[in-house]
Amino acid sequence: MATTLTATNQEFKPKAWEEVACPLCGEKQSRVFEKFGYEHRYTYRRCTRCSLAFQNPRPVYDMEFVETAYEVYSDNTDAHWQKGGLTEKGKVVYAEYAQTLREIEALLGRKGRLLEVGCNTGFFLKVARDEGWSPVGVEISRSMAELAHRQFGVETLAGDWVTQEYGAPFDAAYCSHVIEHIPDPAAWMRRFREVLKPDGILCLSVPNMNSIDRRFKRLLKRLGLKRDKWQAWRTPDHLYEPCEKSMRPFFERAGFELLRTYTYPSEWLGEASFYHRVFHFWLRWGAKQRYYLRPRR
Ligand SMILES: [Zn+2]
Repeated sequence: MATTLTATNQEFKPKAWEEVACPLCGEKQSRVFEKFGYEHRYTYRRCTRCSLAFQNPRPVYDMEFVETAYEVYSDNTDAHWQKGGLTEKGKVVYAEYAQTLREIEALLGRKGRLLEVGCNTGFFLKVARDEGWSPVGVEISRSMAELAHRQFGVETLAGDWVTQEYGAPFDAAYCSHVIEHIPDPAAWMRRFREVLKPDGILCLSVPNMNSIDRRFKRLLKRLGLKRDKWQAWRTPDHLYEPCEKSMRPFFERAGFELLRTYTYPSEWLGEASFYHRVFHFWLRWGAKQRYYLRPRR
């Protein structure tokens, strides 16, 4: 992710903190799991019920926090697309997105209308359209929604996706590395159920806090052999760190059936060697995890 700040790289100091229950299951009991971030200012606690690691207390989630936390992403214009053509990186990412779309299609049995929540600058929407889908993107940032529309001619809406109306239901919804940033994921799942057709597919990608890499880093940190390298301006924008153990019951309660899950590395093009199958499909030790879900009726 690009890390160019448009404002000065000033130290981020939360103005106020709030105590929260587990964002996935609502449990109030939790234990300190890890201090992290700049000067170990932030705390992950682990839910005693579903094992989710979540920030508690966390900086008050208001517009000021959101704007500071996401400023870092807004300069992420196109590493994929320049002067009307795909960059080298763009070709790789295009292939990865096309692979994800084929996986959605395989579960759905067709292509159709697709909603992307958190569409950023619109590259996934472009790939979806080029691959024969009818995509619509929603983005909280108006400037990014407009940029996506301008550069790719794709349909985008700006603002809070939960409160928007979309007309006909969607065949598929796609939301990549967004849901770990928002305070009430259960409300999002309810809305996903409402906007999807009864046999629609939801594809969610999130970080995997139980990746082998992160387990190893946590071990080194506990042994005092490694320190966090957080710059002072960096905000703790993941409100929680998903793991499969906490996500499975969350999906269940939200009324979704988990059809398929696997972990994957950056820039994965869908090829699965024997090693890849063991590491990512069976052990699920990779840094990122994808969940394919269908509303339960
Ligand atoms: Zn919980």
